[in-house]
Amino acid sequence: MDLNDSLEEHFRLVPAQKNALKKIGLLSVGDLLYHFPTRYGDTSAMKNVGDLAVGEVAVVFGKISGLKTSKAFRKKIPMAEAFVEDETGKIKIVWFHQPYLAKMIGENSFVRIEGKVTERRNELYFSNPKIENVAKLPIAVGDSLFGSAGEAHTLYPVYPESRGITSNWFYHALQRVFKSGILDDVVDPIPEEILFRYNLPSLKSSFIFIHTPQKQNDAMGARKRFAFQEVFFIQLGKQKERKEQENQQSFVIEEDEKSIESFTSRFPFKETTAQKKAIATILNDLKSGQPMSRLLEGDVGSGKTAVAATSVYAVTSTRPKGQDFGNLQTAYMVPTEILAKQHFQSFIKYFAYLGINIGLITGSGCLKFPSKIKPTEATPISRAQLLKWVANGEIPILVGTHSLIQKTVKFKNLAYVIIDEQHRFGTSQRRKLRQKDAILPHLLSMTATPIPRTLALTVYGDLDLSLLDEMPAGRKPIITEIVPPNKREDINEKIRIGLKEGRQLYVICPRINEPDPEKEQALIAKSAKEEAKRLKKDVFPEYSIDVMHSKMTPKAKDEVMERFENGKTDILVSTSVVEVGVNVPNATMMIIEGGERFGLAQLHQLRGRIIRSTHQAYCYVFAESKSQKTLERLKALKTAKNGFELSELDLQLRGAGELYGRRQWGLSDIAMEAIKNIKMVEAARTEARRLISEDPELKRYPLLHKYIAEAKEIHFE
Ligand code: ADP
Ligand code: MG
Repeated sequence: MDLNDSLEEHFRLVPAQKNALKKIGLLSVGDLLYHFPTRYGDTSAMKNVGDLAVGEVAVVFGKISGLKTSKAFRKKIPMAEAFVEDETGKIKIVWFHQPYLAKMIGENSFVRIEGKVTERRNELYFSNPKIENVAKLPIAVGDSLFGSAGEAHTLYPVYPESRGITSNWFYHALQRVFKSGILDDVVDPIPEEILFRYNLPSLKSSFIFIHTPQKQNDAMGARKRFAFQEVFFIQLGKQKERKEQENQQSFVIEEDEKSIESFTSRFPFKETTAQKKAIATILNDLKSGQPMSRLLEGDVGSGKTAVAATSVYAVTSTRPKGQDFGNLQTAYMVPTEILAKQHFQSFIKYFAYLGINIGLITGSGCLKFPSKIKPTEATPISRAQLLKWVANGEIPILVGTHSLIQKTVKFKNLAYVIIDEQHRFGTSQRRKLRQKDAILPHLLSMTATPIPRTLALTVYGDLDLSLLDEMPAGRKPIITEIVPPNKREDINEKIRIGLKEGRQLYVICPRINEPDPEKEQALIAKSAKEEAKRLKKDVFPEYSIDVMHSKMTPKAKDEVMERFENGKTDILVSTSVVEVGVNVPNATMMIIEGGERFGLAQLHQLRGRIIRSTHQAYCYVFAESKSQKTLERLKALKTAKNGFELSELDLQLRGAGELYGRRQWGLSDIAMEAIKNIKMVEAARTEARRLISEDPELKRYPLLHKYIAEAKEIHFE
């Protein structure tokens, strides 16, 4: 048996199992070893049904009988009931609100039940216990379900099950893998000294500990090692990339302070201290001749565009080498057409006075400013014409969507690449835009995605960070209210007053959790349409309502947005998927439905849409739940200073799995666990930096080199 062997070579698989394995991406023996249990059951907590007592939390194994679904009689709650039976007795099980459970368990099937024993009218029963199908029953209490009699295993691994494949299959398959002796040949990619320094188990031990732990502690140690491993590999990749960039040349951009001031003094506002600092740092980077790789993080409305524009000014004012005419070029990439147009317009405002050309390229057409006929306006031009002017350097600033990275877009002197809302792009897309030329352009990435520091250190390991942690003065903070179900009506009345005064309203539909992303999008789109209908029919019949969701074409989205911007629509019902910095100053009210389904950081992102106005903005977070804990959590929206604080709270309160945008980072569950642990993340980073600075090509560590080279490219949206 070899790590790269396909599972089919060694296991007889029925079609359903093959499909299931393929679906979760397990093809090789190596994949199987990296398929970790989500938790461990403990057979020592196992009881005989006959010995159960009120109030105890117990695990029993037995056979199911008497399955039926019904309605609990007073409140009409759907419920399922059954009995579970072993040689010593029989006990009732009741599930409220989960009648579907009855469909998942068959009559006479063997199950494992875990829950609290309750009593009603002298009868013992389990209420809403955990239930799992098991292949067979343990012989007697104290026996392991899995290990042969006499072995002291009391922990057994529980793997994520999916249709067609059981937890038990994984257990037995892994036993076979272990018995083959394959683990004796695995080579640990992590240098021994590092394992030693952080007291981490070897790869071989870790596989054994994680799949067949004797003690919970062993399993924890192994999880820690795999978490470290993943973060360490990511860091190595990032640090290596960073080192390679540092060795490359870039354009030297030197602009004197006076000239910069001539630009910033035209702003209709005074920069914040944070903006000034970020500008100074960036200008300093641009001078060095080494390519800049910087991330500018700041909440929505913190004024990232002005910072970017100032640095673009410095680039644009620089002549290409050996020329006394023309300008160095900037490419400014944003994720959507709406945003591309908005940025094109703001860049016209910033740069028109200089008399330079500005281009816009999107999937649905191209614009150029200024128009020959009307010098204060932009004009549509053909794509071919635009590309020609970009290629010969006549358009120094090009704003666009993904269209910017197509091969046909060639620049004469691309010196600067800016990526706005950078989390919406894949790393390969970012790289493509940057590597259009022999000399590496400078890179400024911008994001309003609030993520905890540990995550930033990991996923942005190759970038320097600048933070805009200060809002422009004079902006009224959004008034946020957490609205329990019984207060809905009052809020609707308040909103009606706002609408009467001419303000506009966003309604954000709840998030729907569904493992299949395609299906998820479809469900959310459907719920948005239904919500719009309901609002029109029952709540705000006198106002015009539009819907926007991610299933719509870019053109349709643009049209909806345009109607909303022009005030033709009063209420825009939208999904949370369509959330990046769209700017409609008159939209000052927002309802977020199902607030508890979002992380705090995402709620903060969403309300960022209504921050752009001089009118007071109101955000109403409707909660479906009455739970005090939920409402308390949401209240942090009223007290936290910025998005970063909220993202740290999400990490503490909801765990790494719930972090905003977690799918985007492409980290496994186990690496997300590491994100909670600042010490581990820092250790991984320190070690990665050290290795790369000692041995940039990782010549001494061929295995590490191979891992990084093969690291999966993460794809976004
Ligand atoms: P974001 O960081 O979300 O991209 P923007 O750059 O779009 O924010 O800025 C939001 C708004 O704030 C814009 O209308 C911009 O002109 C304005 N703005 C930016 N900086 C300041 C400032 N220092 N004082 C007042 N308004 C500012
Ligand atoms: Mg922005």
